[in-house]
Amino acid sequence: TVTPEAALVDSLIASIPDFPEHGVTFRDLTPVFADGAALKALSTALTAPFEGRFEYLGGLEARGFLIAGAASIVTGAGVLSVRKAGKLPRAVLSQEYSLEYGVAALEVHVDQLPVGSRVLIVDDVLATGGTALAAANLMERAGWHVTGFAVALELDGLGGRAKLEDRGIETFSLLQY
Ligand code: AMP
Repeated sequence: TVTPEAALVDSLIASIPDFPEHGVTFRDLTPVFADGAALKALSTALTAPFEGRFEYLGGLEARGFLIAGAASIVTGAGVLSVRKAGKLPRAVLSQEYSLEYGVAALEVHVDQLPVGSRVLIVDDVLATGGTALAAANLMERAGWHVTGFAVALELDGLGGRAKLEDRGIETFSLLQY
């Protein structure tokens, strides 16, 4: 059974074949973000399963920021900016992760949140899980508790959910393709 929220978000996701490279179907959520009702519905649906269990939303650069910001207004939780390497101006913790070609890194300010803070990590798409896992590692190294990972769209068959659940990270997706 598909909820009205899921159906609304689903109707707005654009699928672009062969972007950014041949063989990849890019799932574009910018039409969801451009629709105020859909963005609110998405934010509500992603945070409801974790209600009362987090004080912060960890938004993954860049599309996770949009969800985190909207979900912050819905829940009253603050936003933690989980940024790509080299963007944050103060002392950082950095976590590398593998991409198909090469490596990337996510960063947070070391002292951004009090030790023991509970963080719900949010993003638009879960594929292999490498990005979300790197973010979770970063939270743990910083002394923050990972409540879970909430994502608009989970791509089946790429092992993302298994990778996260093997590490004990509760994972919720509104839609699965
Ligand atoms: P992964 O680390 O493999 O789980 O990839 C997740 C990250 O890459 C997320 O931040 C997504 O925004 C982005 N991503 C991966 N695959 C896609 C896709 N097919 N369409 C849109 N974004 C994607």
